[in-house]
Amino acid sequence: MPQGVSFQCRRCGACCRVPGDVALAPDEAQAIADFLGLDVYVFTARYTALAQNRRDLTLVEQSDGRCVFLQPDGSCRVQPVKPVQCKGFPTVWRSPRLTSVCAALRAGGGG
Ligand code: SF4
Repeated sequence: MPQGVSFQCRRCGACCRVPGDVALAPDEAQAIADFLGLDVYVFTARYTALAQNRRDLTLVEQSDGRCVFLQPDGSCRVQPVKPVQCKGFPTVWRSPRLTSVCAALRAGGGG
């Protein structure tokens, strides 16, 4: 991100509606399980699957491809402990597809 440009997330949840892997870093399954009050094995069975790289865990998707933790109002059910991958968009990493759906980036907020 260019220096002096700040990004203002609108918390619309558009990026969370794009199908694709939301990979979990090693400690994140335990952190999210604790946040939800679940045993980590229950959390893993209920909310994760093997990522496309056949190595990491990814969050499962709802039937239309949106993240399992995206709530109807566009908020994230696990916001305080959401994965590093989620925290990193769009300031740490971007993809053309996610960039195209981000209203804040399209409006010039850090694009
Ligand atoms: S975990 Fe939260 S921030 Fe990450 S994709 Fe799912 S709903 Fe979005």
